[in-house]
Formats: sequence, C-alpha cells, structure tokens
Amino acid sequence: MNPYPRPMGKLIGELSKLPGIGPKTARRLSFYILGQNKNEVKSLADALLEAKEKINYCKICNHLTEAEKCSFCQSESRDQTQICVVESPRDVVAMEKTGEYNGLYHVLHGAISPMDGIGPDQIKLRNLMPRLENGAVEEIIVATDPNAEGDATALYLARLIKPLGVKVTRIAHGIPVGGDLEYADEVTLSKALEGRREL
Ligand SMILES: [Zn+2]
Repeated sequence: MNPYPRPMGKLIGELSKLPGIGPKTARRLSFYILGQNKNEVKSLADALLEAKEKINYCKICNHLTEAEKCSFCQSESRDQTQICVVESPRDVVAMEKTGEYNGLYHVLHGAISPMDGIGPDQIKLRNLMPRLENGAVEEIIVATDPNAEGDATALYLARLIKPLGVKVTRIAHGIPVGGDLEYADEVTLSKALEGRREL
C-alpha cells in the first residue's frame, strides 16, 4: 500500500527527478515543505516559476540574464579585450569564483561532438564572430572542458578565429583530463587560467 497521500507522492516524484536528489532526499524535502506555512511554500513555488519565466539568454554572450544583456556584457569595468569561451553558464560561475578573470564571456551551451552529431551549428557559436569585428577583442580564452569534445571545440575555434589576427589560447590542463570545469576548485582553475597556452 502506498504510504503517502497522492499529492505527496506526486511531490516526491517531481523532486526525485532533480539531479543529485535521490528518493530518500526527495522524501525528506517533501516532509519539510509540508511542514512549512503556506506563504513559505508559495514563495518557493513562485521563485521556481519566476526563474523559468524571466531568465533568458543574453543576446551577446548567451549567458543567463533577466534583461536583454547580461551583467557582464553591460559592465564597463570588465576587460573588453578578452572573451573566455565556456560550455555552460555553470562554467561562468566557476570562472568568477576564481576572482582571477575580469574579461567577458561567451557561452556555447554545448561542445562540438562529431560522434553525437553535434557540429558547430548545433552550439551557440554564431554570435561570437560579430563580437570580434570591431577589433577590440585581443584574446579568446578557450575554457571548454578537458575532454575530446572540449578539445575538438578549441581546435575549431582556433582555426576559425586565428586568421582574424586574434590570439586564441586554451586554459592549461591543471584540471583532470576528462573532468568538468564546473567541478574544478578555484585554485586549480586559476592555475589553469594562468598557465593558458596559445593554440
Ligand atoms: Zn552577456
């Protein structure tokens, strides 16, 4: 016999679909939420919907934003001569945590992976080239993940961009090969950034 009333079973089911949340944690969260007052629960539900409805991709760099341009693209204090190319918005957060980078970003939302049929047109690459046209950008720092897809993407970018006279560098492999940029600690990631090499 199902020990939970139907709506609670549904809540547990939805929570356990989230990454990193197993059935046990989903049950614990459900009991916690049921113990909250109605305003607290409404505030959580509203935050979920508002995040989904109001957050879009920046027109310039594809990072998450509530406005047309993200806070990095709007900022005048960021170094306009460098663009760090990353695979996901989570990597922007990881780079920012190092405190060592003050340039701009470009978020690809993926990486080139011929094995999976993902070519340059399947990632958000098209809006990178227009950003290089005014000549302000001097260096593209490729910080894709250190795996086959990340490497393929870095090589593709180097071939595309170097003929324009813009330096293309790749962050050092201080990050374990096959690892994920997002999970590198701040010190490792700052070292990788510092030790970047020209492609
Ligand atoms: Zn942006």
